[in-house]
Amino acid sequence: MPEPRALALREFIRDVPDFPKPGILFRDITPLLEDPGAFREAVEALAAPFRDETVDKVLGIESRGFILGAPVALELAAGFVPVRKKGKLPHETLAVRYELEYGTDEVEMHADGVRRGERVLVVDDLIATGGTAAASVRLARAAGGEVVGCSFLIELSELRGLDRLDVDRTHVVLRY
Ligand code: AMP
Repeated sequence: MPEPRALALREFIRDVPDFPKPGILFRDITPLLEDPGAFREAVEALAAPFRDETVDKVLGIESRGFILGAPVALELAAGFVPVRKKGKLPHETLAVRYELEYGTDEVEMHADGVRRGERVLVVDDLIATGGTAAASVRLARAAGGEVVGCSFLIELSELRGLDRLDVDRTHVVLRY
């Protein structure tokens, strides 16, 4: 049984067929962000399982992972570290390349964004194939961080992205 609060949040996710290309059902979180109560609930739900853990840094994945990850970091009294597409970060970076359905992509993090031994939580709005989140976990570990877990607002469960994540704790607020 899903939590009652998850059922209410689901009403704030807008389904947009054929975006950004034919055949993709885009799960649009902007209605949730527009509603202060739903936004707060989403942030609290993402943070809840990790409240009793020490989290030093929250890694937020470009770009909706920034919007959700930054307030989660504040909730957990952690710092926020952006994971960005290649070429956007100004200082020295670590990079991880990962496979897409067609071709490859690359994400980067500032090399000093996570210090050796720091405990890291990875946050994004949605996990589909899990490629982006798995690459972010690798970035955190490449910097010497210890990954406490990954937290997502939405899981597209038939794609089994969580299976690709080699982490102790994964948390999902809404399953589709
Ligand atoms: P993946 O690496 O396949 O798990 O893709 C996850 C990333 O792509 C996340 O940052 C999502 O924001 C975005 N994404 C993938 N599929 C969708 C979808 N159906 N609706 C909204 N965002 C998506």
